[in-house]
Amino acid sequence: KTKIKVHNIDFSYDDKTKILNNIQLEVKEGEFLVFMGPSGCGKSTLLRMIAGLEPFSHGDIEINEKSVRQTHPDCGVVFQDYSLFPWLTAQSNVMLALKQRNKKMPKKELAHIAEQYLTLVNLGHAIKKYPGQMSGGMKQRAAIARALSFGSDLLLMDEPFGALDPVTRIKLQDLIVQISAEQKRTVVFVTHDVDEAIYLADRIIIFAPGKNGAVTKSIEVPVQK
Ligand code: ADP
Ligand code: ADP
Repeated sequence: KTKIKVHNIDFSYDDKTKILNNIQLEVKEGEFLVFMGPSGCGKSTLLRMIAGLEPFSHGDIEINEKSVRQTHPDCGVVFQDYSLFPWLTAQSNVMLALKQRNKKMPKKELAHIAEQYLTLVNLGHAIKKYPGQMSGGMKQRAAIARALSFGSDLLLMDEPFGALDPVTRIKLQDLIVQISAEQKRTVVFVTHDVDEAIYLADRIIIFAPGKNGAVTKSIEVPVQK
């Protein structure tokens, strides 16, 4: 089970324009937390900081009591640029993630499980395609399959469904709700879509920009899942 604590995060890319202003927040074990707020107010930046991908000098972020400065966080991520390896097929991209945790798993089994995850996101027909042969929505789904297959308790997702048609989007929303509830994974999820946020979230964090950077406010979403 994974919990996150964000303490006193002040952040600026250039030491002039402040992006984040003294952010304090906690993500509880197994919680589905959604970040919302206007474009450009620092949601992706904070998500990348939690993933250990954005260096910072003020404040701290702890995942299970360990600072992301010291310990590379163990998390499945879906970012907007998909970050698939272009020289590997969809299946091999997923196999690579699986292999990181299952170092001794035979290749045949890796291939089989990768195919199952890709089928789960409706890409069973495209496992041999390379990223360059896939549409935006297909790449997004491959990146989601890879993040899920990685098997970490913690999923960090930045508008993972933005490029999907409405039918696929609803299907994957249901899949992610089911996976996070059954497997008690902790999820931090960025979206612009209010309906999506309310459908998915246990709690929503609103980012509100100001001249000293964005501050955050938390709202509980009382839903029965
Ligand atoms: P959001 O996810 O809320 O849309 P971002 O975290 O992507 O916001 O961006 C916050 C601000 O930081 C924006 O003004 C953006 O232009 C700027 N920004 C994002 N990434 C970088 C970067 N690598 N270097 C400099 N500025 C950046
Ligand atoms: P998506 O909702 O996945 O973005 P699209 O409407 O972009 O779907 O594409 C529909 C179908 O067209 C895909 O499932 C895929 O089979 C095919 N397709 C789209 N773009 C490409 C591409 N660049 N290369 C190969 N096939 C593509």
